[in-house]
Amino acid sequence: MPLTDSYGRVLKDLRISVTPRCNYHCLYCHPLGMQMSDPPGTVSVTDIKHLLSAAAALGMDAVRFTGGEPLVRRELADMIAAAAETPGVKDVAVTTNGSLFRKRHKELLAAGLQRLNFSLDALDPQIFATLTRGADIKQVLDAIELALELELHPVKINAVVIGGVNDSEVVALAALSLEKPLHVRFIEYMHLNNAPFEEYRRQFVPGEETRRRIEERFGPLQEVATSPSAPARLWRIAAAKGTVGFINSVSQPFCSNCSRLRLTSDKKIRPCLLTDLELDVSWAFTAADPVGALRQALLTAAGKKPEKGSTLPTIRQRVMLGIGG
Ligand code: SAM
Repeated sequence: MPLTDSYGRVLKDLRISVTPRCNYHCLYCHPLGMQMSDPPGTVSVTDIKHLLSAAAALGMDAVRFTGGEPLVRRELADMIAAAAETPGVKDVAVTTNGSLFRKRHKELLAAGLQRLNFSLDALDPQIFATLTRGADIKQVLDAIELALELELHPVKINAVVIGGVNDSEVVALAALSLEKPLHVRFIEYMHLNNAPFEEYRRQFVPGEETRRRIEERFGPLQEVATSPSAPARLWRIAAAKGTVGFINSVSQPFCSNCSRLRLTSDKKIRPCLLTDLELDVSWAFTAADPVGALRQALLTAAGKKPEKGSTLPTIRQRVMLGIGG
């Protein structure tokens, strides 16, 4: 029996945040000065094994590790191996800023990593440094090249578009898809960082505007067929090797097709990215039969998944850094 919520949506995708720590400090992800450490009780490899056994038995077959920055977590390879070895799990991916990929790629691939989503919001080194509050773009570009060399297809790039900060970069980012099989997805900026409301409203750029700019430069985009539960609608610039996608979570919410549940690194199941509701499931990991208890916890979380979330600016109990995108 597939895991289905109260609105008939089948939940197939599990996103697991493995740490609240990040070595980058992207301004859209969290306010400055957040404390970043793995507190006691952070999800362990054994916890993940149990959760995946429960989730896969309920038909959840795609796992994405996120954070924080998942590659700062020493045990990430063991977590990937746990996912790859769980019967029923078909897709094991990581969302990363890429900075540690060259250093860790051998152990991660040996563990069973199949593909990566890289965050890259600008090609201009100065704009990149502004967005990340000081990071060096070279490591990320190198990581993307390495993923292509290793043929970890599809290699996806996520770019959050922020007006007045990196919206001038969207044409250059889209151009990455021309010569290489890169899939560049433009994400609408969501108010998940507790930014001042007026500043957020001023900086929000609708995906349609991003698309208009890209078409102004490259001509009409050709639609590429996509699964309805995928967050991005995909397009291709004429003759390009890769694609461009638009994740218009704010202007065109896709809640009716949402297939995701999230586990935070402090063991809360978050049924909806855009709703503060969280279920503390730490008890289930220490139950006598953790897999059975987690199965129950997943069923309960699915039953509580709201029909839709709100993207209106509001102060969130947890910012994106702690949720995991
Ligand atoms: N550290 C990893 C990384 O950089 O990809 C994983 C964590 S990050 C929270 C996951 C994704 O969330 C990234 O693709 C990032 O662009 C996206 N994200 C973070 N804050 C966002 C926001 N306010 N609006 C939209 N997407 C956001």
